[in-house]
Amino acid sequence: MRAIRRFTVRTVLPAPLAPLGELASNLRWSWHKPTRDLFESMDPAAWAAVHREPGALLGALSTERLDELAADDAFVQRVQKAAADLRDYVERPGWYAGLGSDAPRAIAYFSMEYGITGALPQYSGGLGILAGDHLKSASDLGVPVVGVGLFYATGYFKQSLSRDGWQQETYPVLDPDGLPLSLLREADGTPASVSIGLPGGRTLHAHIWRAQVGRVPLLLLDSDVEENDEAARGITDRLYGGGGEHRLQQELLCGVGGVRALRAWSRITGAPAPEVFHMNEGHAGFLGLERIREYVAEEGLSFDEALEAVRAATVFTTHTPVPAGIDRFGRDQVEMYFGGAGGMPGVPLERVLALGAENFPGGDPGVFNMAVMGLRLAQRANGVSQLHGAVSRGMFTGLWPGFDAPEVPITSITNGVHAPTWVAPEIISMAKQHIGSDFVSTGDGFDKVEQIPDEEIWRTRRVLRARLVADARTRLKRSWLQRGASEAQLGWIKDVLDPDVLTIGFARRVPTYKRLTLMLRDPERLTALLTHPERPVQLVIAGKSHPADETGKRLIQQMVRFADDAGVRHRIVFLPNYDITMALTLYPGCDVWLNNPLRPFEACGTSGMKAALNGGLNLSILDGWWDEWFDGANGWAIPTADGVEDPDHRDDIEAAALYDLIENSVAARFYDRDERGLPARWIEMVRHTLASLGPKVLASRQVQDYVQQLYVPAAAAGRAATASGAQRARDLAAWKRDLRSSWSGVRVDHVESTGVSDSPQVGDAIEVRAFISLGGLDPADVQVQVVHGRVSESDELTVAGVLPLEHAETYEGGRHRYEGHLTLRQTGPFGYTVRVLPRHEGLATPAELGLVVNA
Ligand SMILES: *Cc1c(COP(=O)(O)O)cnc(C)c1O
Repeated sequence: MRAIRRFTVRTVLPAPLAPLGELASNLRWSWHKPTRDLFESMDPAAWAAVHREPGALLGALSTERLDELAADDAFVQRVQKAAADLRDYVERPGWYAGLGSDAPRAIAYFSMEYGITGALPQYSGGLGILAGDHLKSASDLGVPVVGVGLFYATGYFKQSLSRDGWQQETYPVLDPDGLPLSLLREADGTPASVSIGLPGGRTLHAHIWRAQVGRVPLLLLDSDVEENDEAARGITDRLYGGGGEHRLQQELLCGVGGVRALRAWSRITGAPAPEVFHMNEGHAGFLGLERIREYVAEEGLSFDEALEAVRAATVFTTHTPVPAGIDRFGRDQVEMYFGGAGGMPGVPLERVLALGAENFPGGDPGVFNMAVMGLRLAQRANGVSQLHGAVSRGMFTGLWPGFDAPEVPITSITNGVHAPTWVAPEIISMAKQHIGSDFVSTGDGFDKVEQIPDEEIWRTRRVLRARLVADARTRLKRSWLQRGASEAQLGWIKDVLDPDVLTIGFARRVPTYKRLTLMLRDPERLTALLTHPERPVQLVIAGKSHPADETGKRLIQQMVRFADDAGVRHRIVFLPNYDITMALTLYPGCDVWLNNPLRPFEACGTSGMKAALNGGLNLSILDGWWDEWFDGANGWAIPTADGVEDPDHRDDIEAAALYDLIENSVAARFYDRDERGLPARWIEMVRHTLASLGPKVLASRQVQDYVQQLYVPAAAAGRAATASGAQRARDLAAWKRDLRSSWSGVRVDHVESTGVSDSPQVGDAIEVRAFISLGGLDPADVQVQVVHGRVSESDELTVAGVLPLEHAETYEGGRHRYEGHLTLRQTGPFGYTVRVLPRHEGLATPAELGLVVNA
């Protein structure tokens, strides 16, 4: 029999236990073990049965059990203590409070996915986990972030395997009433609602779920509401469900609906309006259009003026150097949603289209590019590791014509991970004994890992490895039963993996560039490594393929078939349904974390950071974060065959290097035991990993970087732009218009220099005089620079420095002389040139307009 209607009846807690409601609904429990321990102690069996989710536990306990606990004074006291601790966590001023009034009062953070806990499966991979870790660290530091996203009725899919290893997807429907969410309501109790016009006169309505992440609220829009027609109800049905238009509708809801949800949030709760808007990828880019609409309607600004106000306070983070990973829609689709009756007043369709247009070499005129729109709507932009920043500057250089890639205004902030979430409790308690546990929150104390005895480190590592082995066996058995095997056929699983064998982990989404199957290039070589008589390795592998990605599913099948073989199945396992819950056991349990993407397509990668924080060593291609922080002793770098064009040949070379490293370096060191039976040199590497990487890979470092380098400057720019009736935004828009129309009159007429001797040497000064025509522009509108540095044989300049020249004299006809002294500071082939750039105090960088005149 099937029920025709379902809902979740919320538990009524006896009064003495009432604070448990708050403890369960604030997701801080997901990174606070004492809170989880409290819930577990209520009924350990039920706790395991509900997959360790406090809200579900409260729903599962009988009234009798709750009454019993309510009568238990010791338990009630623990509840009160835990509630007081949460209150203290939420209220105490954090690091951010020390920044003073320059710091923004609130920051809106937009992301299409959030990975916070396994209990809220609203993520597919690294992007979502990053967003979750960002919110958690913002909470720890007291950064006033408000998260905005969507609530997907089925989240991301659950993965299982068919008998022959093909990925199967299921989409269990989530009941938001049974999740740690509450509906945002108006004062009169009715659900707060936002609406957006759709083509054909339809209207999309959405309600707003609120999750509480420590002190950070997260607003999730849900279109599955009665006011909507069937199609509109399905818009938030699943994460990355449909393509094209479905995705466009989701992004419309997230961006435009998200801003409207924030307005409702401020109106209802009195929370300050965000001063900075951060787009975590281009997906939420439509938020900028909604904010332009607001400025036009409320401040009477023109589109261009509103655009300046929006840009000033917007931060855009790009996450992918893979062109196929960039979100693009048909121009016609965007026309449908932003043209005609569906258009926004004050936001003309052609201006919308121009924001996403690929009007640069190699661009597709039929396409609307969300990343490009993000870059045009945000005055500040960044990639997620140094290498990715450099790759992004090259990739988007077409948006700033005239500038070499290094000057493209995209900076980088390297991702981090939220240590309180990702460091295993066993590591925390080991640290507590010897060095204090501050390192998970503040990053202090990593330098003291020297003080932890070898034996202690090794014992803990074994506990973690054994925990992973046990978990892997359980999961493998469950998977085989699902694949149709009978209990009697599965006796072998109890001997799968060994808690004393070198354990290598590999888990991530399965796009082609991550090369899940690189290790299968030479199956015999891999088999030999797995079954080595003295120095075996074992591999734990996991990963979901996007449901529409047949190639990825084929890679998974290849992997599964290899791992199914009776000759190796005790040493290599593929575990279905990679998610946060699995990850929490997997990272700490691995001795080595393997990552072999096709360089440079891994923007950052964060799983290796989580392994490192648990004393795992990284074995990785020098890509993403590893390119930046590998120091020769904190793990291993797999050499890349950059420049080898034939992908098969490249894979062969890199796989061979991988096998060699595992055999001759990794396994050799792991099994090199001293008289105590300990791998002293391995343990040394574990210590060095913790000491060298620990403080860097933290999301608290990442969030502080965002605050200092992007949020505070964006807040300052936003305040300046909108003060006094948005005078600065108006001026800047007018100035840009005039500058663009006059720019063709700017010329470097002539450059003179004196002081260059026949044999110049370091310390000599050159006097440079540049004669510049500015057409109708004022000298205050430009800066004139000498750009200098090393030159190649073909006179190509590698910029080492920039020297601004002073305005010296004005001649007739808009001509000017500029002067300055350039001191030679480096030996070797040296050259310089002179250029003219726009100047205005409202610009974040002189490259912003993509205008430059070179000599
Ligand atoms: C950390 C994490 C990821 C991201 O890992 P990458 O190294 O960026 O591929 C994906 N999924 C889960 C469950 C994670 O915990």
